[in-house]
Amino acid sequence: MIVGVQPMAGFDKLLHYKVPEALRAEIRAGSLVRVPISARLHLGLVMELNAQPDCAPEKLKLISNVLHDYPALTPDLLGLARWMHTYYAARIETVLEAMIPAAVRDGARLKTEKYLSLARILTAEELGLLRKKAPQQARLAEFLQGQSQPVKKSLVLTRLDLTAAVVTALLKRGLVREETRSVERVAYADNWTGGEVVTGLPPKLNAEQATVVQALSASLTAEKFAVHLLHGVTGSGKTEVYLRAVEQVLAAGGSAIYLVPEVALTPQTVARLRGRFESAGHKTVVWHSHLGEGERLDGWTALASGQARVVVGARSAVFAPVQNLQLIVVDEEHEPAYKQDETPRYHGRDVAVYRAKLAGCVCLLGSATPSLESWANVQAGKYQLDILTKRVDDKKLPDIHVVDMRIEIVRQRGLVTLSRLLVDHMHRRFERKEQIILFINRRGYSSSMQCRKCGHVEQCPHCSVSMTYHRADETLKCHLCGHARGAPAVCPACAAPDIRWRGLGTQRVEEAVRRVLPRARLERMDADTMAKKHLFRQILGDFRAGKIDVLIGTQMIGKGLDFPNVTLVGLVDADLSMHVPDFRANERTFQLLVQVAGRAGRGDRAGEVVVQSFTPKSEAIQFARQADYNGFAEGELAMRKKFNYPPYRHLIHHIFRGPNQEKIKFFAEHWVKQVEQALGGSVEIRGPAPAPIEKVKDEYRYQIWYFCARTTAVVPALVRLQGTVKWPDDVIQVLDVDPMSLV
Ligand code: ADP
Ligand code: ZN
Repeated sequence: MIVGVQPMAGFDKLLHYKVPEALRAEIRAGSLVRVPISARLHLGLVMELNAQPDCAPEKLKLISNVLHDYPALTPDLLGLARWMHTYYAARIETVLEAMIPAAVRDGARLKTEKYLSLARILTAEELGLLRKKAPQQARLAEFLQGQSQPVKKSLVLTRLDLTAAVVTALLKRGLVREETRSVERVAYADNWTGGEVVTGLPPKLNAEQATVVQALSASLTAEKFAVHLLHGVTGSGKTEVYLRAVEQVLAAGGSAIYLVPEVALTPQTVARLRGRFESAGHKTVVWHSHLGEGERLDGWTALASGQARVVVGARSAVFAPVQNLQLIVVDEEHEPAYKQDETPRYHGRDVAVYRAKLAGCVCLLGSATPSLESWANVQAGKYQLDILTKRVDDKKLPDIHVVDMRIEIVRQRGLVTLSRLLVDHMHRRFERKEQIILFINRRGYSSSMQCRKCGHVEQCPHCSVSMTYHRADETLKCHLCGHARGAPAVCPACAAPDIRWRGLGTQRVEEAVRRVLPRARLERMDADTMAKKHLFRQILGDFRAGKIDVLIGTQMIGKGLDFPNVTLVGLVDADLSMHVPDFRANERTFQLLVQVAGRAGRGDRAGEVVVQSFTPKSEAIQFARQADYNGFAEGELAMRKKFNYPPYRHLIHHIFRGPNQEKIKFFAEHWVKQVEQALGGSVEIRGPAPAPIEKVKDEYRYQIWYFCARTTAVVPALVRLQGTVKWPDDVIQVLDVDPMSLV
């Protein structure tokens, strides 16, 4: 048998090998293998069985060994790898690396640790002697004497600053015992839920939920490819619908993948799934990039072997090698976090839909604010729409108050952080011992320009995106088409002077809150906190336990979390997400507002929301206030249609970066001419224009945008063209297909 192997060692070429007799039974398409290349063994993935080599079979080398008992990629995943390679213009090897966890590629075996304990109690005399002869050994012996249990060798050595030789010496003397223990590695085995009580008993479905579950059940039973979009307002019990779908899949002997947009949301979801299915003997595997190697390998093995049939994780869980896949759930499908911002720049939701297609199964997308891409697919009849219009138990959606900050500035005589309405509500809720969340928007740029008197923001006449302010040469520039003009000294709409915007930091908001609620217990959650896994979990746990009164943070704390005692949510600076040079700015603002508001009033008490804005009349804010998704989507899609933006056309982002600005600019301009020649007609090109963040880490950035009806022909053509150009080493260029962020 001859197989085609994709080496994972920097060769962008499929190689052929013979399979030795002994490995025939083991080898399958998708198996990880070791193969000889030149004189060394390298990792590779079997892409095809019974391949046709382009040279004489006698010349072929033999596969050396197979890494695991199970293939790393199932047949649908192999197809997915090929698709991602062409669709996202990513090297196949890079795609495979994203799909297969490093722990699996390394072929790591189950992890063990060495533990030390004293072989017997030493007398004071013995210790005294040892101290004189070998003081380091004495220190270790004394330490172990004080322990009631064996301790991890690596930890002791670090703590006492000793080398392994000291242990060896004590072993020789027979004073110390060393044992090997395997390490317990079930992720979240402590079933941490942040204090949420998870019971196994499913609630009785309400009428709307029952209808949706029935529709899904029909698709699951059909065992064919189908995409459902579940549009359910916040708190409408979408999670319960997902659980019922998973339940049906498990009962039918199938597997389910459950995607959440953020690693931070996995513990809550895992707890719910384990609470529901563990007692019936179903393991739930956690899958994301923050896991330890051992945890990953164990989870992977459980899934690949079919021993576990449910997996939860952030975007990369879409690549889990499950057996008999019947369902992929994509929760909060609108979240930009599903898009990976390094190569391969794939979108977890889109990949999920494509995998479901290859596997012939159901993909369930859910959101309170569906992406316009998915909404357009519903309208085109490609996706089936399911709706939940009411909160569970008929709980009210919160009232949203919009504060006009232009008036607030006049009233309070100057720029303020917290409006009087927000402060009043904060007092009231705090006195009733209810909890408050304040959000600060982080999508904004300090470099957008907004009039603080009338709220005006200058737009590009050609692109309908906000212009970006460049201090260096006092200009406003459009980062889609490059259109530029001098920065106005006064507001073009109302002639007020000083129209520059300064963003708010979490710190400033914290200070303001301390002034108005000096007795409140505050906690801040920002990028620093998020970086520390335990701190993050602890803060959320404390908040749930009622040990924190006010939580301040960016929208990352706004996603999907369920805190029943939160009755007031404040959005301190709604504008920042609106005036970014991104045609999705309105969509983002609408989503942010609805999601943020969705955090209020989930328990027994009604909640309310205060939104502070300099442009309170804008559509995103007004539609969000009325919780009118359909109205918003209709207006926004009309705008997208007018400018022929996604979802009506695809967008490809091409960035050029490097230390030499002139060179970057030259190559970008030169390239555009070539693309025009080669592809003219099938793409509309905008740029090159300087990127909104023009210089990052001493590298200049230029960008080009391609608009096209279909990417399938355009991306490969661009890749081919790239291959014909001799690029200097210091000009780096990256293609991003269907980009989610326009910076
Ligand atoms: P969503 O995901 O739509 O925001 P959740 O699924 O988190 O909403 O549901 C909100 C709350 O309602 C959760 O605490 C959930 O346990 C509860 N819930 C869901 N469905 C029901 C039901 N049919 N009866 C009672 N409670 C329910
Ligand atoms: Zn423009």
